[in-house]
Amino acid sequence: MSFSCWFGSEHYRDHFEDGTYNCAECNTPLFDSLKKYEHTSPWPAFFSLIHPDLVSRYQESPSAIKISCAKCGNSLGHEFLNDGPQLGKNRY
Ligand SMILES: [Zn+2]
Repeated sequence: MSFSCWFGSEHYRDHFEDGTYNCAECNTPLFDSLKKYEHTSPWPAFFSLIHPDLVSRYQESPSAIKISCAKCGNSLGHEFLNDGPQLGKNRY
C-alpha cells in the first residue's frame, strides 16, 4: 500500500497503516511506515528516508533543512536536525 505525501499532509499524522509514503507529484517512494513515529507536531514525522539521496536539501536555519523531491522538486517540508526519537537522529 502507498500513500501520497507532500508538504503539509497533516491528515497522515495519526495514520499508522503499513506501506510507503510516495511523492504526491512523481510517485517516488520516499518514506516507509516502519520509520514513522508519533510526534506532537501537526505533520507526520519520520526518523529516516528510504534513501538519503531521494531529496534535495536547502539549509534554511541551523536546525532546519528544507527538503524537496530530488526527482521532481515537489516541496516535502523540513528535516529537523537532532530532533528525532533517538539522540543524533533527525526528524522529517
Ligand atoms: Zn517527486
